[in-house]
Amino acid sequence: MTGPRELRALGSVLGSAVGDALGAPFEFGPEGAFSARFPEPGHGGEMCGGGGWEPGEATDDTQMAVLVGESLLDRGGLELPDVFGRFQRWAAAEPKDIGLQTEAVLSSGDPWDLAAGLHFRISQRAAGNGALMRASTSAVHFARQGRAATMEAARRIAALTHGDRAAWEGTAVLHELVRVALDGGDPLAALPTALRAVHPDHRARYATVLAGDWHPDRATEFNGAVWPCLGSAVWALRTTDSYEGAVRAAVDLGGDTDTVAAVTGGLAGAVYGADSIPARWTEPLHVPLPGFGGRVLRAPELGALARRLTE
Ligand SMILES: [Mg+2]
Repeated sequence: MTGPRELRALGSVLGSAVGDALGAPFEFGPEGAFSARFPEPGHGGEMCGGGGWEPGEATDDTQMAVLVGESLLDRGGLELPDVFGRFQRWAAAEPKDIGLQTEAVLSSGDPWDLAAGLHFRISQRAAGNGALMRASTSAVHFARQGRAATMEAARRIAALTHGDRAAWEGTAVLHELVRVALDGGDPLAALPTALRAVHPDHRARYATVLAGDWHPDRATEFNGAVWPCLGSAVWALRTTDSYEGAVRAAVDLGGDTDTVAAVTGGLAGAVYGADSIPARWTEPLHVPLPGFGGRVLRAPELGALARRLTE
């Protein structure tokens, strides 16, 4: 039996992966590139591949989300050294794409509990969206434990690769919004409560990008940064009325399209459920897992992962 909650959990994991694969060919492209090529929703052909990606091929965003999810299942809960070890094994197998901060931290040779902090101390740049992008599996897994536990787990997983608390707080907000959606609530209505749970030093900046009148054009950084990436995903959800509409809007923003669409898709999938994701997008979807014996997950395997994570 697949109840509404299971469909939403499935929608979040699949929706994030689909957004990632849909956006990948448009990465670093200009605003409007997607709608110029695919003017009307529902016509097909959008999972087009390009830029080194096969049609339906998911990128590092989804690959890392799968690694987190499989660690949670195999270890029976959150075991941070195990998650870090899986990330390292994956990074060493030379995935097609990997975030700059993530790569620097995972290849530093420093221990799991120090590597991200040491990198941040030297670089002073660690507020990328690289922890936000891999949130779907842990968001689904921790949702039943409530807001505080969900947000705390999100922070700890983010901190494995990102030393800047800004990245932790944004990832925690996203987890909370997915949690609310899985419960059948409205994530937009839950924004004030989520913001109150953000560390005080970071609350104002998130309040700005999550405000009802914020638009991605007002971003003060490239959308590879955590604040405009989360703000854009929430904007896409707010200004559309379907899964397809939300991820189309996200990819159409240009820039870091795979990640903005992965974050948007994880959120919109949790709101609208797996049934709302077009089959023409889930059919070509596939997630290679470098470093793990040539495994490639397709939609049924992602679905099974999502289902086990909610149990
Ligand atoms: Mg990516």
